[in-house]
Amino acid sequence: MKSAVKDLIDISTYAGNRVDYTQGGGGNTSVKDFGAGLMLIKASGYKLKDIDEKTAYVAVDLGKIKGYYGSVDLSVEKDYEKESGQIAKDSVVALPGMPALRPSVEVGFHAILKKYVVHTHSVYANILTCSLEGEKIAEEIFKEKDYGFIFLPYINPGFSLTLAMMSAIEKYEKNTGKFPEVIFMKNHGLVVTGDDKERVKAVNTDVNETIRKRFGLKDDFKSVSLKEENGGFVSETPIIAEYLKKNELSLATLNAKPLYPDQLVYLNNLLINTPDKMAVSGGKVKYNAELPQATTLEETLAAYIFVLSAVEKNGLRLSTMNEKEVDFINNWEAEKYRRSVK
Ligand SMILES: [Zn+2]
Repeated sequence: MKSAVKDLIDISTYAGNRVDYTQGGGGNTSVKDFGAGLMLIKASGYKLKDIDEKTAYVAVDLGKIKGYYGSVDLSVEKDYEKESGQIAKDSVVALPGMPALRPSVEVGFHAILKKYVVHTHSVYANILTCSLEGEKIAEEIFKEKDYGFIFLPYINPGFSLTLAMMSAIEKYEKNTGKFPEVIFMKNHGLVVTGDDKERVKAVNTDVNETIRKRFGLKDDFKSVSLKEENGGFVSETPIIAEYLKKNELSLATLNAKPLYPDQLVYLNNLLINTPDKMAVSGGKVKYNAELPQATTLEETLAAYIFVLSAVEKNGLRLSTMNEKEVDFINNWEAEKYRRSVK
């Protein structure tokens, strides 16, 4: 168990210290201890880089979650979203000296994957997942790699995503005889999984670098910058400033191009519910918020602009979420919890 905690800190630091991989509380990691029948996973509402020995993760009963997804009977009419959420809550195993936290909303798909799972909202992967041409480009650039990948269509996160991932993996295994180490999720992000921790990190890096190379992306996008001003924070991240020279940014422009759930959770909903927290004027973005929230907003905004600009600059066609998909996220109970935490 001790080594599982160490491994979790290791992969979470790897994925959580780069803004181009994860923004705000987005992304999650997990490590399975098969001997103990447990999975350690990031807790909901925390950042990957918050994870240390005593913070920001929970243990869940792996058998309980896998058992549920393996035997769920879809012929019965009921609220599976609610039921699976309850299973996730009930599966939490208290660890000595740890607070009882809530597992990541993506606990279902973590449970069905290999020992190590690194799930990020990589801006590079999202150039592919947020464009109509992305899947075809992935087929070209990952053709010669020794790791296999699947490209999932957009599926509502939570229960439905877990089931869809299970059946896509099963199909892939039947066709190729191997487990896909890389999973692209349309309008969402990237998952890398495997039983060798170093390989999982190496494959994740290779996926990102391969996409960067394909689009000739030379500048790294590893952090954001904010300046304190009149009790709030002003955006100083170059990519945002550049964008605002030529483009408008408002709730209307964000609503017109919904790219992925975290944009809706952090940006759109903020502007709907607490519009005074973020103001755009004279080509500047100002956050009337404490530093942690201002940082989450700045990271989410910078990533959104990065993906949007890269898709458009490279002559790709943007693939956005539809109205039904947007509504699902806006009404999702688990997301409301995530938003309230940070
Ligand atoms: Zn995610």
